[in-house]
Amino acid sequence: MKIYEGKAKKMILLDEGKLIMEFKDDATAFNGEKKAKFKGKGRLNAQISTILFKVLEENGIKTHFIGIAGDNRLIVEKLKIYPLEVVVRNVVAGSLKKRLPLDEGTNLPEPIVELYYKNDDLGDPMINHYHAKILGISESELKEIENIALKINKILKEYFAQKGIILVDFKLEFGKNERGEIILGDEISPDTCRLWDAKTKQSLDKDVFRFDKGDLISAYEELYKRLTA
Ligand code: 5GP
Repeated sequence: MKIYEGKAKKMILLDEGKLIMEFKDDATAFNGEKKAKFKGKGRLNAQISTILFKVLEENGIKTHFIGIAGDNRLIVEKLKIYPLEVVVRNVVAGSLKKRLPLDEGTNLPEPIVELYYKNDDLGDPMINHYHAKILGISESELKEIENIALKINKILKEYFAQKGIILVDFKLEFGKNERGEIILGDEISPDTCRLWDAKTKQSLDKDVFRFDKGDLISAYEELYKRLTA
């Protein structure tokens, strides 16, 4: 039974407390204005997400990842997802350039955490803790979410650095499980991260599609190759 279909993934109810998360080959950008299909993208994102969820689990982060169920399918724990996109940034890129007078590629002295309200009709607006409280998310939940996001950043930044990759920024989603624990949900993949080759600063992520920088599958395959080397 399909319970949700989004732009890049499908969620299928498996049994009590578990879901199949199926990664599609579709790519969208700019709130669905730009669309395309890339054969093999779903498989690459599922495999890359698996690697990154495992790295996080090994470092003490609770994630919804349970196992793999095929090339482009993961088994995950069912969560009540917060309507939030949590963005962490290490380097100036993307929409941050509209907020601070800093050039693309500038290293930030410390990471920035941003909250966005996940709502397509409103275009995922940036919000603060006051707005989040109106949406029913308490201050203590927000603090915990931001702390976990910063821990994840520390782990992944170091992990990618070992692979010759700069973790520029990324988006996370969190939810609560049946035991009331706050858990990392969704995916961590080149669709949701900005990843630059440390030497050439070339994009190994969805910016290749967003800004027509080359072949998306070649970039995602190169990333996968580095992570599995
Ligand atoms: P920006 O705010 O600069 O557009 O995005 C910051 C980071 O969060 C980027 O790594 C981007 O991929 C990710 N991100 C932000 N919003 C979304 C979203 O709605 N979908 C996806 N896939 N990634 C997002």
